[in-house]
Amino acid sequence: MGDRSAELRAAVDAVRAAARACRAVQQRLVRPETLEKKDKSPVTVADFASQAIVCARLAELLPGDPVVGEESAAALRKDAQEPLRAAILEQVRDELQRDVEAQRVLEWIDLGAADASGPRYWTLDPIDGTKGFLRGEQYAVALALIEEGVVTVGVLGCPNLPLDGRPGALFTAQRGKPAHVQRLWDADAGEREITVGSIASAAEARLCESVESAHSDQEESARVAALLGIRAEPYRIDSQCKYAAVARNDASIYLRMPTRPDYRERIWDHAAGKLIVESAGGRVTDADGAPLDFTHGRTLARNRGVVATSGRIHEEVIDAIRRARA
Ligand code: AMP
Ligand code: MG
Repeated sequence: MGDRSAELRAAVDAVRAAARACRAVQQRLVRPETLEKKDKSPVTVADFASQAIVCARLAELLPGDPVVGEESAAALRKDAQEPLRAAILEQVRDELQRDVEAQRVLEWIDLGAADASGPRYWTLDPIDGTKGFLRGEQYAVALALIEEGVVTVGVLGCPNLPLDGRPGALFTAQRGKPAHVQRLWDADAGEREITVGSIASAAEARLCESVESAHSDQEESARVAALLGIRAEPYRIDSQCKYAAVARNDASIYLRMPTRPDYRERIWDHAAGKLIVESAGGRVTDADGAPLDFTHGRTLARNRGVVATSGRIHEEVIDAIRRARA
C-alpha cells in the first residue's frame, strides 16, 4: 500500500471541523429537559451538520472520493423539515464561517450517501454514540478510508474524552504505521504514539462495553468476564471511544456481544476504531474470532459481534466466549 498521509491529513481536518460543530450543538442545545422529553432534535441537527461538514471538506481536499455515511438528505427535503434544515444550516455556516445556500448543504449531506461497492471509499459516522451525545457524555466523529476491503486510514474525534486531564482527543491511524493521539481542539499541540497494554492474562484486564444494553448483551459479557477471572466492574462508555480506550490502554478488552441474531454491525461503527486498535498493537475480530470483513457493503454481513483486545489475551477471550455460550 502506498503512502496515505494526504488522506490522513484531509480526514483529520474534516473530523476536527465536524467535531467543533457537534460540540457547539451539544453545549447549546442539549439540556437536562432534552433527555426527559426524549427530544432527539439536537442530535439530529449535529448529525446532519457533521456529515455536511465532513463531506464538504473531503470534496474540496480529495475530490471524487465517495463517502458512505450514515445519513441521507432525502427526509430533510420535505417541507415540514424547514426548521430542522434551518438549524443545520446555521451550524454549518458557523463552522465554515461563510454564507452557504441550504441547497449546497443538502448536496453535501447527499455526497455521503454513496454505496459501499467501489474499490475505494470513505465511511463516516457523523455522530457515533448518539445516546451518549444526548446524555452529555461520550460520542465520536468516526471517519475511515476503505480500499479493496482493507481499512487504510482511521480517524476518531472524541470531543469529551479527556487527554491529559482536558476534554478532546483525536486518534489517528494509517495502515502499517503506529497509532497516534493528539488534542482535538488544538491542531498545533503535536501528536504522540499510543500502544495497547501488555498484560499476559485476561484476568488482569479491564473490560469495556456499550452503555446501552440494547447494543451489546451485558449479561453475556458478564459471564465471559467471570470465566476469565475478571473482577473489576465493566467500563461502560458510548461510541468508538471503546476502541480508543483499548488502543491507549485505558482498557484491554472491548466486547460487543450481539443482542439479537439478525443485527448486522455497520461498517462506520467499526472501521476507524479497528484500524486504531490494530495500529496500536492490538487485535480485532468478531465474537467467533473471525476477521471483520469489510467487503459486503454497508454492513459486516458475515460477522457477529466484535472483540477488540490488547492482543496477547485475544485467543483467551475468544475461548471464554465459546465456553460462555456452550
Ligand atoms: P455504542 O455507542 O457502542 O452503544 O454504539 C452505538 C452504535 O450502535 C450506533 O451507531 C448504532 O449503529 C449501533 N446499534 C444500533 N442498534 C444496535 C444493536 N442492536 N446491536 C449493536 N449495535 C447497534
Ligand atoms: Mg454509530
